[in-house]
Amino acid sequence: MSLELSKKAQAVKPSSTLAITAKAKELKTQGIDVVGFGAGEPDFNTPDNICEAAIKAIHDGFTKYTDASGTLELKQAVCKKFETFNKLSYKPNQIVISNGGKHSLTNVFEAILNPGDEVIIPAPFWLSYPEIVKLAGGVPVIVNASKEQKYKITAVQIAAACTEKTKAFILNTPNNPTGMIYTREELEAIAKVAVEKDIYVVADEMYENLIYGDEEQVSIASLNDEIYKRTITCSGVAKSYSMTGWRIGYTGSSAEIAKLMGSVQSHQTSNPNSIAQKAATEALNGPQDTVAAMSNEFNRRREYMVERVASMPLIDALTPQGAFYLFVDVSKVLEKEYKGNKIATGDKLAEILINDYNIAVIPCGDFGFDDHIRLSYAISQEQIKKGMDRIEDFLKTL
Ligand code: PMP
Repeated sequence: MSLELSKKAQAVKPSSTLAITAKAKELKTQGIDVVGFGAGEPDFNTPDNICEAAIKAIHDGFTKYTDASGTLELKQAVCKKFETFNKLSYKPNQIVISNGGKHSLTNVFEAILNPGDEVIIPAPFWLSYPEIVKLAGGVPVIVNASKEQKYKITAVQIAAACTEKTKAFILNTPNNPTGMIYTREELEAIAKVAVEKDIYVVADEMYENLIYGDEEQVSIASLNDEIYKRTITCSGVAKSYSMTGWRIGYTGSSAEIAKLMGSVQSHQTSNPNSIAQKAATEALNGPQDTVAAMSNEFNRRREYMVERVASMPLIDALTPQGAFYLFVDVSKVLEKEYKGNKIATGDKLAEILINDYNIAVIPCGDFGFDDHIRLSYAISQEQIKKGMDRIEDFLKTL
């Protein structure tokens, strides 16, 4: 057949994080003892009270279509959470509930972009951003945030990257893959530029509950009225409540944008799963002690990983302030030879580590930084220790 398939779909890169996780799973099913540092999800069970709410929803017959943009009950729970946790005042008509955070972001760009509109994406970035922007007809404009600037883009860099076509800027704090958090002062400067340049800010705060030490999570939309109007605040229950499989994300935005997103969603997927919406309502309204317990456990693992990396030759990492990833600079490793060949790329390094050392790591070429790898600490302490020992063994051979 010579029928041409969609150029847009063919231009999308498959998700390399999912690919490496799948490879690790495959090796595990063959009985190989793989340490999976690729995990993008908490290793805890969804808390019982949340599961019980879902079971009750089934028994109560809450198993039919809901409003396309989500139940009023869940929107009210999201409003309350925005108010208390983020100091953001939204009404239910400004909230859209979607099938996960990824779907929320897809809806945002469907609602704000016209073909050829540019979206500024700071690198390192979560690898789905450029693809989601492209699928919505936009053009990703990547701006590098160097290690020296703690992988955080500055207001000056955003201003310099703006053209007449710039429509939006993506701000991800706490950040995947770096774990960095933007300070209030940094956000104030960025907000000023966004207002001056008249662009939207898509604020992805998916990891907002996972912050360590004295760090403060500031939602950019909470800074002043001007930035509030032009920000779409995105979050979800996946990472905070260990609910990745339930698929519930949400946004707070102007009522106008929320209405557009709701219309798009109504034709694409109808409503998010009714049972998962009941579960997410319980997650937000119910006791929050499990969130703190998970966060404390991540913090312990983070400290251990940071210490181990600091004691190893050839690699180093900034101490992450949030999320559950360590962003490791492997540029010196890439200059070395392994079995007679220069390692050269992050992909090659990841291949050596999985094939010869049974460790799955995420090479960060698709995150805009090929000389870094991402190590997730959303795996048990015992696995982390085993994996770090193996990495150390490998580095000693170089
Ligand atoms: N934003 C960031 C920064 C993420 O890392 C992820 C998940 N990896 C998401 C959004 C999407 O989360 P969800 O599972 O709810 O689609």
